[in-house]
Amino acid sequence: MKTYQEMSKEELTQELTALKAEYEKIKGMGLALDMSRGKPGADQLDLSMGMLDVLDSKTALKSENGTDLRNYGVLDGIPEAKKLIADVIGTKPENVIIYGNSSLNIMYDQVARAEMFGICGNTPWCKLDKVKFLCPVPGYDRHFAITETFGIEMINIPMTENGPDMDLVEKYVNNDETVKGIWCVPKYSNPQGVVYSDETVRRFAALKPAAADFRIFWDNAYVVHHLYKEDQAQILDILEECKKAGNPDMVFEFCSTSKVSFPGSGIAAIASSETNIADIKKRLTIQTIGHDKINQLRHVKFFKNVDGIKAHMEKQADLIRPKFELVEKIFSDELASRGIGTWMHPLGGYFISFEAPEGCAKEIVSKCKEAGVVLTGAGSPFPYKKDPKDSVIRIAPTYPSLAELEQAANVFVVVVRMVAAEKFLA
Ligand code: PLP
Repeated sequence: MKTYQEMSKEELTQELTALKAEYEKIKGMGLALDMSRGKPGADQLDLSMGMLDVLDSKTALKSENGTDLRNYGVLDGIPEAKKLIADVIGTKPENVIIYGNSSLNIMYDQVARAEMFGICGNTPWCKLDKVKFLCPVPGYDRHFAITETFGIEMINIPMTENGPDMDLVEKYVNNDETVKGIWCVPKYSNPQGVVYSDETVRRFAALKPAAADFRIFWDNAYVVHHLYKEDQAQILDILEECKKAGNPDMVFEFCSTSKVSFPGSGIAAIASSETNIADIKKRLTIQTIGHDKINQLRHVKFFKNVDGIKAHMEKQADLIRPKFELVEKIFSDELASRGIGTWMHPLGGYFISFEAPEGCAKEIVSKCKEAGVVLTGAGSPFPYKKDPKDSVIRIAPTYPSLAELEQAANVFVVVVRMVAAEKFLA
């Protein structure tokens, strides 16, 4: 098969004519398919239904230290839930605070508190003329929405296959005291599926920030979300590495069971140094008397321990792996072979980050929508929704059924070919 780069103008024109006819036919089919949000499919959620049976009116709602979980109290989580989450992210229970049902909520709180009160006695960010965050791109749209909401200036940092470009990160963090944070998804990043290498993690830990209140926002959202049993990424424990490097307070680590149990009804947590945990608790105690301890117990009783979570995630992987493989096969056969699309092969997480020829992403998303296939907005994985190359499209394969996904992916490849052919001919 010839690539678009190899085709003559006549060949490309012929190709475009045929694709336009195919596209019109697809439009007539009245499809309604969605590859936009990273949500588990109903079959994945079914695997957690047993969680609703582990407690009933006869269960003693007590934590292992005797606390009555039906009542007020326990600001930082019941001990057994702290242990469970600490084991999942590879840290110690004393470094963990269990919150409510959403890690994004905690991230928002961390930024809001830094703005209003300052971190560990430093000047509140709202009193500074300028506050900047580094944003590895492509990244998670909701991270960027938080910093945008607070008027924080966002700086794009290109991703490599080993994590963010660390030369740039070091240049900014070590020299500019207005740089106060960086968003990171260190394992199976959203959307590319990048896993930070040991060298990247060590370079993060060894940063010498110009700002005393610079923090790494380490969102370990996909820590147990492997697709393959035999090829599971491990990353270094950032808290431990920072401690070793003499930067014990530089990290806020986040995680949740949103895509382990039930999104919106899971448990979420922050892990950090003793000093940061004390600083957070000082404010948190004004915000709440405590989070949902009964849900924490439900999670512990259902999963039992970290091995229970790992076994559960293997069952989820069995359901979603065929979806990732199907999309990658269709993209390989129809797009990569024609030289009009690249992506990183993800070994975990929830997304495939498709890179179309430059200047095509917006048009592809809009043409797919017209044909009944909803994709994440072009530009979404970038601060201010601006993709400088107009190239990245985030594909979320988990929610549709395999049959729907096949249809959607087949529409997508026709649209990519059509838009690319038009672009090449222009
Ligand atoms: N962090 C990342 C990187 C995500 O992709 C998502 C959801 O897609 C979240 C956080 C949301 O987590 P939660 O449901 O715990 O708020």
